[in-house]
Amino acid sequence: MTRRALLHGGTLLVPPPQLRLPRRPRRVAMLSVHTSPLHQPGTGDAGGMNVYIVELARRLAAIGIEVEIFTRATSAALPPSVELAPGVLVRHVAAGPYEGMAKEDLPAQLCAFTHGVTQAWAGRHPGHYDLVHSHYWLSGQVGRLTAERWGVPLVHAMHTMAKVKNASLAEGDTPEPAHRVLGETQVARAADRLIANTEKEAQELLRHYDADTDRVSVVHPGVNLERFRPDASGIEAGRAAARTRLGLPQHALIPLFAGRIQPLKAPDVLLRAVARLLEERPQLRERIVVPVVGGPSGTGLARPEGLQKLAACLGISDVVLFRPPVGQDRLADWYRAASVLVMPSHSESFGLVAVEAQACGTPVIAAEVGGLPVAVQDGVSGVLVPGHDPVDYARALLRFADDPTLSARMGEAAARHARSFGWDTAAAATADVYTAAMRESRQAC
Ligand code: UDP
Repeated sequence: MTRRALLHGGTLLVPPPQLRLPRRPRRVAMLSVHTSPLHQPGTGDAGGMNVYIVELARRLAAIGIEVEIFTRATSAALPPSVELAPGVLVRHVAAGPYEGMAKEDLPAQLCAFTHGVTQAWAGRHPGHYDLVHSHYWLSGQVGRLTAERWGVPLVHAMHTMAKVKNASLAEGDTPEPAHRVLGETQVARAADRLIANTEKEAQELLRHYDADTDRVSVVHPGVNLERFRPDASGIEAGRAAARTRLGLPQHALIPLFAGRIQPLKAPDVLLRAVARLLEERPQLRERIVVPVVGGPSGTGLARPEGLQKLAACLGISDVVLFRPPVGQDRLADWYRAASVLVMPSHSESFGLVAVEAQACGTPVIAAEVGGLPVAVQDGVSGVLVPGHDPVDYARALLRFADDPTLSARMGEAAARHARSFGWDTAAAATADVYTAAMRESRQAC
């Protein structure tokens, strides 16, 4: 409906507000086939996308948009649905064997999953869902069928793209298969709107998937600023307190890796950089601790002990602390305790951990790839490193070793920078994308 006023019998009639304003969805079906928003992120298939879906859904519900998230049931013991937050329901869909299915096996279960989603809808009145929002290409495949069946728009977020990943693989890593590229191409064509994390990702959608410019919208993900924040006592005092809580030495140089352990994230680059640093400055060995928080994932699952073996081979096992994935409140303490977060990823559509660490007042050394140049302000909130040469990362670490005030100075700027990435802003922008998609699809009727 346009904002046009109607002329009736010489009287200017202004349409009532509900006709004048484009309508927001009341209820969205969100699809997350391969990983559940209820899973612990930081290992296996659970990572930033899970956090993204939970935070986005909560904030959408808070502004009056109900969200039902459909995910594959991975245990017979799961209830059909779980309330994640007021207005956010997680629905478990039976599709294929519960356990023992890798993400790579899931394309064969997409028909069963689509059937499960449409069954859940069968008892509802038409128009129960105003829109489908799918995450990752597997869900996009289900999304294009369900959205068409329900006659509602499809909004899709890729999160990662096969062509982009394959263009910057770690040495020896396995490329994404051709059927994923084809699947992504179909979804890019079918979606009424594609949400990209950054302008760079939007360009990649246009270049690699021939997406239509008018249908791509950029929405930066957010960070939970209530959870990820500097300690109330200040960044330095907070760092000391977090180190005490975690049993870490007070005056150590602590470069932290947090996230899924897989070649794509390049934790090996951090370990090699630390080995290099210790060759140059052997006296640092007394005051360096390198925590690696997270579990194996993706192609890293083939060699779950690979990183421990590398640490042993490099002769640095005594300074590396391997810790399993932790809940986000605990993770915030690891961020606060660290001198710097190191993220040498080969590919990163955004890099939530970079923003979370900064929100806690910790600077970041990151590879200059994907969304990281948006997440990190080079020279201000952290250091961006072109490429993956451990020598360059060792040089960046040396700056923090030589200047004990650098963490605090950059940390202040990091916390300021991160404050611009709230989830409320991300949810409001996503709601605008929904509204536009609904308006366009009504116009096409
Ligand atoms: N994470 C967590 N516990 C851990 C390690 C990571 O909860 O032990 C979360 C972290 O807070 C972040 C997400 O996992 O939100 C990882 O997101 P990112 O975008 O950095 O990487 P992705 O997994 O999407 O590749």
